[in-house]
Amino acid sequence: MTIPFLDLRAQYLELKTDIDAAVLRALDSGWYILGKECERFENAFRQYLTGSNEGFVVGVNSGTDAIKLALLAAGVSAGDEVITVANTAIPTATAICSIGAVPVFCDVDPDTWLLDAGRLDASVTEKTRAIVPVHLYGAACAMDAIGEIAGRRGIAVIEDTAQATGARYRGDRCGTIGDFGAFSFYPSKNLGACGDGGAIFVRSEKRRETLAMLRNYGQRTRYKADRAGGENSRLDELQAAILNAKLGHVDRWMQQRQELVDHYRGKIRERNLPLRMQQEHPGGTASTHLFVVKLAGPAERDALMTFLQESGIQTLVHYPYPLTEQPAFARYKRGALPVCEDLCSSILSLPLHQYLSFADIDVIIAVIEDFFRRR
Ligand SMILES: *Cc1c(COP(=O)(O)O)cnc(C)c1O
Repeated sequence: MTIPFLDLRAQYLELKTDIDAAVLRALDSGWYILGKECERFENAFRQYLTGSNEGFVVGVNSGTDAIKLALLAAGVSAGDEVITVANTAIPTATAICSIGAVPVFCDVDPDTWLLDAGRLDASVTEKTRAIVPVHLYGAACAMDAIGEIAGRRGIAVIEDTAQATGARYRGDRCGTIGDFGAFSFYPSKNLGACGDGGAIFVRSEKRRETLAMLRNYGQRTRYKADRAGGENSRLDELQAAILNAKLGHVDRWMQQRQELVDHYRGKIRERNLPLRMQQEHPGGTASTHLFVVKLAGPAERDALMTFLQESGIQTLVHYPYPLTEQPAFARYKRGALPVCEDLCSSILSLPLHQYLSFADIDVIIAVIEDFFRRR
């Protein structure tokens, strides 16, 4: 028996009729870039995020580009500092570095594993132009505290919502709270395309216009380039059509994963397994993107990972190396971010997707129990 970490084919098969029809509709339209599907998705996703017609969504080519274009639209340029965390996916920093800005890494809270707002003030300098809080594993950052500091210091907040489509903070969807919300539709995300895709949420018409120019060569209208720094980053019609077919299922899938996470948590407590779990901020409702546990240290983590693998259970590590230790971004000495470094060396992501069953989780828990019994 094998339990896969993720099952993207099952997701396709569940909606095969609708997805196939959407793809054929897009093909048949004869219009493949910035057409009706993208426009329809931008409106539907805004409605999903705000429950109203407030704000704007701009579809782009990826989550990385969503962060990058948001930074540009916020006025961040080469040499400016952007505060983020080091226990995130590489693209958070790739986006910052791609415009010549400098990522400044702030440590995370030992309980929530998210940006430690208490340390934020100390990371701000006169060069700081933006903060990119990452709603890691789908859990909402302390947006109140982050917004208060950003407001006081006059710094833009760009939410990295790549893992948190659907999550809420004090009732509002993540990605609608800061100045910009950056989303990814990479296939494995909560709302995934069958290829690359991303989007940015903003509240003002002016920002929407800027972003629409930036994603389309800097053009305001055809053949008129008004905005420097533009690029080619559009959400294409095929991906938008697929996202249109999937959007209505995102909340139900999230609810299904929440029930699975509750089952994991209940079993871990019941069996008294020595696994720590991510805690949520008061007011946060996670999108349950990943289910991550923390072990005593690297040796135990690696041994459990191997043991599970040998039992046919696929696990991953999100993420094994702090960004401060990546050659592309390295400017920090080990020890600079003790909480983040400890996490990266001792966490493990267990299988989580809406096609997993309670019985699968019982098997995973039994194998973990066996692992600790033998130690
Ligand atoms: C996936 C992800 C991204 C990048 O999204 P892409 O669509 O792959 O470019 C950025 N940040 C985080 C936290 C992610 O998980």
